[in-house]
Amino acid sequence: MEELKTVKGLLGLKVIFLLVVLLAVNLAGCVQEKNHLQGYVEVSPEVKLDEPSVLPNWKDDEYHDYYSTVQKLRGFNRMFPNLVDLFSIGKSVSGRDIWCMRLTNEGNNSVKLSCLIDGCIHGCEWEAGEAPLYLAEYLLINFGKNATVSSILNTTEVYIVPLVNPDGRENDERWNANGIDLNRNFDVDFGRLRGHVLPLGKIFGRIKIPVVSVPLLGLWFTNCGRYPFSEPETRAMQGLMENLASHNFSFYVNCHTAMHMVITPWNAFKPPFEIPSNEENVFNYVKKWVVENTEYEDKPMNYHASGTAIDWCFKEFHVPSFTFEILSKDYEPGSGHGKHDHLVHWMKTTLPFFMYLLVNIDSLKDWKLPIKQYPLPDGVPPQPLR
Ligand SMILES: [Zn+2]
Repeated sequence: MEELKTVKGLLGLKVIFLLVVLLAVNLAGCVQEKNHLQGYVEVSPEVKLDEPSVLPNWKDDEYHDYYSTVQKLRGFNRMFPNLVDLFSIGKSVSGRDIWCMRLTNEGNNSVKLSCLIDGCIHGCEWEAGEAPLYLAEYLLINFGKNATVSSILNTTEVYIVPLVNPDGRENDERWNANGIDLNRNFDVDFGRLRGHVLPLGKIFGRIKIPVVSVPLLGLWFTNCGRYPFSEPETRAMQGLMENLASHNFSFYVNCHTAMHMVITPWNAFKPPFEIPSNEENVFNYVKKWVVENTEYEDKPMNYHASGTAIDWCFKEFHVPSFTFEILSKDYEPGSGHGKHDHLVHWMKTTLPFFMYLLVNIDSLKDWKLPIKQYPLPDGVPPQPLR
């Protein structure tokens, strides 16, 4: 009897053990399922999605030329395969690929909004290419940890083209390899003298004339190409934006240096259509936000430009479009050949604007006032440089 009791007791223990194991497996399954739903990262149960975001670990001398930009993009693709899609949208005049990166949680198949942030359409404006890269790294390293960043990549496709003008970046020149100012080559107000451009193209198909200056009158004109979209780089951007138009395209940022301000469409010319007052209100609201929350300014333009990317994007797709002029004016003596220093500082000045637009993308899509604020990490925005 004593033996039988022991056997029964052991059996009971085994049953309880089995039940505990089954329960544990089941619970683990729930955790797994939940993690799968919330993103690509296998988040351990104790990690909360409301961790404060952290900044990319960049150094002040970490500027990326064409080669190291491509290395960086490939690195992102390798490290975050379920968040990054990397593809070429065309080739430059000299045959360099123009790389585009799409950031989104590919595990989430719901309908998403899309946006485009590009840089270095003027090749010598290095920081304009660095800023979208910095944003990309910030989003990737905080996904699955910070709730807001995770939500952005779960609901948004962020398209990033860090080097619109790869040849210009390699040659450290404003123009592309044909000597054309790409941000004057779009099909809007094209070739207007008042926009300080001349539609020359390459003379005899050979001779580059990037700029014509009239020193006596203090005037200079850039070469906008012979006709709209004459250049492979602008055609690549045209194709990308036309594609985004069928993917809930919601805002566009074209990065430059060094006017230290945010610019909205048509600073020089009468728009080809009436801009509705609610859309004007959104532009004004964003510029006011920039003045109140960043070191960037809203000041009168001191130059005219025709054939620009943001004017064309706004005219064609009717989405909020911005030129973001990073750095300050003392960084750009002449037409862009300035000094490059304090990289990390300048990157930190760009993050508030990008994140502000991203958390408000649903409002921007419908031209409603972008009123949401985003808690930025410590030290952002930084104290302005003296
Ligand atoms: Zn520029």
